[in-house]
Amino acid sequence: TTALTTTELEDWLRRAAALLTDHAAELTELDAAIGDADHGSNMSRGFRAVVEALDAGDFADPAALLKKTGMTLVSTVGGASGPLYGTLFLRLAGATGGAASLDAAALGEALAAGVQGVADRGKAAPGEKTMLDAWTPALEAFRGAGDDLAAAVAAGAAAAAQGRDDTAPMTATKGRASYLGERSVGHVDPGAASTVLLWQALADAVSG
Ligand code: ADP
Ligand code: MG
Ligand code: MG
Repeated sequence: TTALTTTELEDWLRRAAALLTDHAAELTELDAAIGDADHGSNMSRGFRAVVEALDAGDFADPAALLKKTGMTLVSTVGGASGPLYGTLFLRLAGATGGAASLDAAALGEALAAGVQGVADRGKAAPGEKTMLDAWTPALEAFRGAGDDLAAAVAAGAAAAAQGRDDTAPMTATKGRASYLGERSVGHVDPGAASTVLLWQALADAVSG
């Protein structure tokens, strides 16, 4: 695969829904330690609704598919992660224009817009122990990896996983975990962990 069409993006979202459902208990356990123990159920509910929307709809281009995904997440996920992931997908949609497929360069630009959307919406920066600590290194690795889509996605997925692990020693300064202050140290951020699952699903979709 050198470029993602609407069909392959749909495959990504379905794989993401399956992975988030499989790992819901794990995500909720991470959120139980530094939040309110609902991240797994929030994400699996949101992506189950996305899959229902995919089943029900026909999408003319990647932008239509990604926009529907973002709107569905905003409207079905209670909590901080709904508007954040929703904004990510809405910005991805906006960045693709009317393109029929996304090659590595186009996906890199779209992801950059999406990650900026998360930062804007969350008023957050890397280092605050949020999903941005997985998204930001993943985006950098993706864009630094060159034109080969599969290699770039693999690099992004690996960097997301490293970014997730690197949230453990951080002190949370955004979201519910910030209420714990220093007591958030030693725990991985749940949103960074769900971000890794989205990258894994993308890697699986790209490699078929
Ligand atoms: P809630 O905290 O409302 O229960 P979730 O548990 O679904 O929502 O999602 C929590 C995750 O959202 C956190 O682990 C973190 O990654 C992310 N998050 C929370 N607030 C922010 C923010 N201001 N900026 C970026 N990410 C955030
Ligand atoms: Mg929560
Ligand atoms: Mg909550």
